[in-house]
Amino acid sequence: MTKGSITANIIVMEKVRVDKSAEESILSGHLWVFSNQVVERPTAILPGEIVQVVGPREKRLGTAYINSGSLIMVRLLSREAVEVDASFFSERIEAALRLRQSLGWSSLRVVNSESDFLPGLVVDRYAGCAVIQVLTCGMEKQLDNVIAAVRRTLSPDVIVLRNDNPYRLEEGLSQYTRVVEGQLDGPVMIEEGGLRFSVQVMAGQKTGFYLDQRENRSCLKGLVEEHTVLDLFCYSGAFGVYALSSGARSVTFVDASAAALDSARENVALNGLDRSSFVRADAFDFLKAEGDQYDVIILDPPSFIKSKKKLKEGERGYIDLHKKALRRLNDGGLLVTFSCSHHMRRSRFRDMARIAAYGHADLYLLHELYQAADHPVLLAIPETEYLKGMVLRVNKRA
Ligand code: SAH
Repeated sequence: MTKGSITANIIVMEKVRVDKSAEESILSGHLWVFSNQVVERPTAILPGEIVQVVGPREKRLGTAYINSGSLIMVRLLSREAVEVDASFFSERIEAALRLRQSLGWSSLRVVNSESDFLPGLVVDRYAGCAVIQVLTCGMEKQLDNVIAAVRRTLSPDVIVLRNDNPYRLEEGLSQYTRVVEGQLDGPVMIEEGGLRFSVQVMAGQKTGFYLDQRENRSCLKGLVEEHTVLDLFCYSGAFGVYALSSGARSVTFVDASAAALDSARENVALNGLDRSSFVRADAFDFLKAEGDQYDVIILDPPSFIKSKKKLKEGERGYIDLHKKALRRLNDGGLLVTFSCSHHMRRSRFRDMARIAAYGHADLYLLHELYQAADHPVLLAIPETEYLKGMVLRVNKRA
């Protein structure tokens, strides 16, 4: 009998035995088993191989892929014994589409890794273009199946592989970007919230666009009318474009990257908007310098805390950023602030703003913000929640 073959409907695969804590974690709904929770595994198993997971007393826990070189050694794909093939991925993607059906969004994240029981896989749809991002060795092994399933379920004109995420290096994978189907002539045009955006799927950040901020951008409506807005860490300018279309008096776009500012400029023009200025600068330096005061400041920095070890250092960064931003905000103004680091807990993020305002401003929490609904948080997997934001009314003390 060969490995992975089906004989009389019984799937034969290598077995991995995990300890009690991992069994409990899986039964509670998590999909990960850490290396120290693995009790027994085949000695000569290739990274990314499909295995059956059993508990300490032989309880069948499901089908997973394994990477012995990774701290998260086992990631569950199914709670059943299943054949992992193109049909498996098609069914998973169809389920992910059903979950998002009521949103009615033409461009969105279709597969959000663990949230959709497809650990290590992201699929974003930008109009007729599907962008696949694979983060783990186990998923890389399934790439042909994944591409076939994306083709079958989404029928895209173009399929792009954006396998350049640095996390891949930790899994022993190379980084590359490639068009695997169709032809791509420049950026992809998408529609979001009645606005148009040009998305650089081959070279832009993430898979080209920050889809996760969609609902937070629309939250600007009604908050910015006639106000001066600073869109700090603007990337392709999506927040600022929403602000302009919602009646902001002016928007200043700031980013350290020239390519990001070009893209922001293009998106402002695409929507027939103006009243904008674009500044290439380090955000901290920009805030430190003397200059205009703003009615609304949007802070959407990259993650300052990439690992738990960097927590203290990252916190100092957030406090400093908030302090500097508060200085440039008008009395009664709004601070719209985000952290995309999973390690920054929501309550701690509130502390960051509170500490920054200590002694000189009162902060009112108007809205608590989350990642968009196409990046669903699975309660059993806390790691699926990463984006948190606040809209704060800032009343300065005399
Ligand atoms: N708000 C954007 C996403 C921001 S991503 C949106 O909704 O699309 C973070 C951005 O911060 C990136 O464009 C990156 O180029 C920029 N950035 C990173 N470090 C920076 C710094 N020190 N100063 C200014 N911009 C920075």
